[in-house]
Amino acid sequence: MARRRACSTRAQAPWYANGLRFTCTRCGGCCGGGPGYVWLGADEIERIARYLKLPVEEFLQSYCRRVFKRVSLRETANYDCVFFTPAGCRIYSVRPAQCSSFPFWPDNIDSPESWEDTKTRCPGAGQGRLYQRAEIETIRDRLRTTRGAEGSGTASC
Ligand code: SF4
Repeated sequence: MARRRACSTRAQAPWYANGLRFTCTRCGGCCGGGPGYVWLGADEIERIARYLKLPVEEFLQSYCRRVFKRVSLRETANYDCVFFTPAGCRIYSVRPAQCSSFPFWPDNIDSPESWEDTKTRCPGAGQGRLYQRAEIETIRDRLRTTRGAEGSGTASC
């Protein structure tokens, strides 16, 4: 009689178990180039307003737009993020989770094909520093923890 295969309770290792390479080239490609949204949670709104030394309401009026019941950063006329400059992101040290978790968004790492597609949009993906699985998942979960895994649209490094 054939033996029943042992049932493993351990989750299968993801396809990126050996890590993924990424080093931002600061090309700014994910900070604009087309219409998109950079969603902000309440804590992020407060953090960025504090960094800019602005009252929250003034920050919301000057730099944000309401999209239904959510808040996104504004874009310039050419669809760049309102905080993107030729010298880089004006709020880099306090940038939203949507930006700091790119390119390790859930949709970008759900399969090798998704990662290959990400490489075509992000020249830093697939080269440079090797991120280990745990680090990738910590970064990915930063986005999930903040607002759920919606991450899409404009984002910075
Ligand atoms: S994360 Fe990628 S697309 Fe964005 S600025 Fe860095 S290299 Fe460019």
